[in-house]
Amino acid sequence: MRIPDIIIAVDGYSSTGKSSFAKIIANEFSFLYLDSGALYRGVTLFAIENGYIDADGSIDVPGLDKALGGLDLHFGEKGTYIGDRCIEREIRSLAVADKVSPIATVPQVREFVDKKLREFGKFKRVVMDGRDIGTTVFPDAELKIFMTADPMVRARRRAEEMHTKGEEADISEVLKNLQERDWIDSHRETSPLAKAEDAIVLDNSDMTMEDQMKWLRNIIAERFCCA
Ligand code: C5P
Repeated sequence: MRIPDIIIAVDGYSSTGKSSFAKIIANEFSFLYLDSGALYRGVTLFAIENGYIDADGSIDVPGLDKALGGLDLHFGEKGTYIGDRCIEREIRSLAVADKVSPIATVPQVREFVDKKLREFGKFKRVVMDGRDIGTTVFPDAELKIFMTADPMVRARRRAEEMHTKGEEADISEVLKNLQERDWIDSHRETSPLAKAEDAIVLDNSDMTMEDQMKWLRNIIAERFCCA
């Protein structure tokens, strides 16, 4: 199926399978896939390693704001990088997951990330997953999907994913972390997690990836009438 040059925004709650879905969409339509959460996670790792956030979650906002000017955070061959150091593994740890939502409430951090993300939208044919892509980063995206799923299903999926990567994952801890992140993400002042008015909801609690792709192909065929 060939589709026009559009931007596809995939937003939703933590661990709803946004990134897996977005990657498969990108593959099917030869779009560029971008994981906006990875940049928030990258800033968080940087903040932890440089003491801009302490164990109880207090953030040195002026210090972090200043340091962002010199932070070379970018996507590269193997994922996310700070300078030439690949940080893909570290940013998926529970230590980073634990602090990322507080860091993502800082307006200066959001500005820093948004600027990087918008650069990629210039040429369209991009699918980006996150929390505020359809509302803030690309409010004019031609197709917006908002993903949700039962919290227990989501916790199980995330725990399995962590196991596959050889990480410890206690299901109740994973569930607690994702519920906390959902709460912070939905209640922050700047660009909270919210469904864009024109987004289509996808509850994938009982759907396989193939079901989701069928659902999407139908929507694309209807909206962009291509074969
Ligand atoms: O998508 P992922 O779970 O990797 O995102 C990590 C965190 O980054 C989210 O819990 C959220 O706090 C933040 N985030 C955000 N806006 C985005 C993407 C991620 O606030 N567009």
